[in-house]
Amino acid sequence: MGKTIVFATGNQGKMREIRKILGDMDVEILSMKEAGISADIIEDGTTFEENAIIKAKAVARETKYIVLADDSGLEIDYLNKEPGIYSARYLGEDTSYDIKNRNLIERLEGVEDEKRTARFVCAIAAAMPDGEIITTHGVIEGRIGYEPKGSNGFGYDPIFYVPEYGCSSAELSEEEKNAISHRGKALEAMKEELKKRI
Ligand code: IMP
Repeated sequence: MGKTIVFATGNQGKMREIRKILGDMDVEILSMKEAGISADIIEDGTTFEENAIIKAKAVARETKYIVLADDSGLEIDYLNKEPGIYSARYLGEDTSYDIKNRNLIERLEGVEDEKRTARFVCAIAAAMPDGEIITTHGVIEGRIGYEPKGSNGFGYDPIFYVPEYGCSSAELSEEEKNAISHRGKALEAMKEELKKRI
């Protein structure tokens, strides 16, 4: 077995996705829990990239393995890129996405198609054992729909309309979404960076 990578997340969906994408590399991928790491991380960066780096560095202090961390969110152009880095915290961390999604649709009431543009953004940071920090990005462009649709995925997927597929990202299968998603793209880019180093 080759190197070990710790992915700084507690999210099983993200673990599945990274294991699939890095599947052809000779690496073992552990969640923070599997690596026995618990870090209380304050994400006080002002960009996705800064937050990903903050998380990766905080976890890297607890281990000698390569650490990957991601930060992602939804930017809605009409709302000045809200909820952005506050996507998880929008209207409160514990508020259901049903409420968050309906609220965003309400805030776009009467706004025409062309002005409903939005994107999911993902930044991934790798903290290498020698101190090097690598970052990659991925974006998927779309539009905010007029009502929540679909039950796959999570978070804002039901209101994110993907023009190429003519449906919301909650109506895509996991495979379809991974192939075009912000996180999928950022992970693929990170894989290329890691391949150069390990
Ligand atoms: P984090 O990167 O895990 O902090 O997630 C940020 C937040 O952005 C999530 O809680 C979701 O609200 C939102 N988000 C990020 N990626 C997606 C996605 O693929 N679908 C739906 N919502 C997402």
